[in-house]
Amino acid sequence: MIDTNSKTYCPLIFHGIYVERAGNGAYQIAPCCISKKSQVLTQTIDFVNNRYLNVIRTAANNNVRAPQCQSCWVVEDNGGESRRQVYMDRFKENQATTPELISLDYNTLPICNAKCIICGPYFSSAWIQDAQLLKLGSRGAITIIDKEQNQLDGLDLTQLKSVYFNGGEPLLTNDHVTILTQLQNINEVAVSYNINGSCYPTEDVLQLWSKAKEVTLSLSIDGINEQFEYIRNPLIWKQVSDNIAKLNNCLPNLKINIAYTVGLHNVFGLRECINWCNTNIDKFDVATQFHVHTANGKLDIKFAGRELRKSFLNELSLIDNNKFYWGTSLKNYVRSTVDPSNNWMDYLYSLDKIRNTNWETTFVELYENSLNDR
Ligand code: SF4
Repeated sequence: MIDTNSKTYCPLIFHGIYVERAGNGAYQIAPCCISKKSQVLTQTIDFVNNRYLNVIRTAANNNVRAPQCQSCWVVEDNGGESRRQVYMDRFKENQATTPELISLDYNTLPICNAKCIICGPYFSSAWIQDAQLLKLGSRGAITIIDKEQNQLDGLDLTQLKSVYFNGGEPLLTNDHVTILTQLQNINEVAVSYNINGSCYPTEDVLQLWSKAKEVTLSLSIDGINEQFEYIRNPLIWKQVSDNIAKLNNCLPNLKINIAYTVGLHNVFGLRECINWCNTNIDKFDVATQFHVHTANGKLDIKFAGRELRKSFLNELSLIDNNKFYWGTSLKNYVRSTVDPSNNWMDYLYSLDKIRNTNWETTFVELYENSLNDR
């Protein structure tokens, strides 16, 4: 018998689905956007009987940690607050273990106007050319991605209480509008997005959002000024900060969160960014609205050398760890996750070469503190 208070239970395992296009009408699924995805599927999704989802449910039913949910277990083991714990709280009234679709995470078309240094061509159409120049390959190029939303055929959306869109840049697509306009109970649905802040919503989108129970925009802001522009190349900080100012009060049911993806490139920018958000976003509670996630890929903190790692810990000690739920887990991540196999500098130098940027002068503290590891 499953114990829904146990540390292995997650409501999303029984009530959630993440759908990500894999091109040519195929897709992958998972209980949520951070759990491990299934193999590529082409048949209509049967939410209740799908084999992949049921393997994860069986683990939860047996009170064991599903390996597909490793992202949550890592955060929890490092003392942080996982997505599972957030949803335990949010889904207090939906902790049954009979599968019923309540939460949809949807990956919109990989159309994007940014080539973020922590991203790549799979999620951003803008990245494809640079990926070719860097000889990184461009898996899932936009040209073979289907534009139809038939992936959702067969899913019963009538009981949804939560819908989340990531991308690409969701606001550059029509996917989110197509889904939201299908929801007859949109007034009961908490809608959320991960967006890059460069696109201001149209009047039609604002109108649609005004009908939702609430709208949360998680803006990917992981630096300010020139560091933002390096990380989120070629977005313009002024345009993004102006949009944030306009979004502040555009709808009574809209809330802004900040999603700071921290890699070894921007540990030193955290405090400045927190201060900026505190000062510039109305009614902003940094403790609950400023979220930090660790970057995977070439700029993962795990690739930092010993001396750089020490300077990260010094920097993080200047942040009030009692105030931020992610403070302890981030420090633990810096301390415990070590992998010297990748030379992150080579990646930044190669980006500089094709983008005419200069990481040494943009991230001065990073450059100076990395000298001791050379
Ligand atoms: S990854 Fe975490 S939040 Fe997602 S389904 Fe698994 S336990 Fe739940």
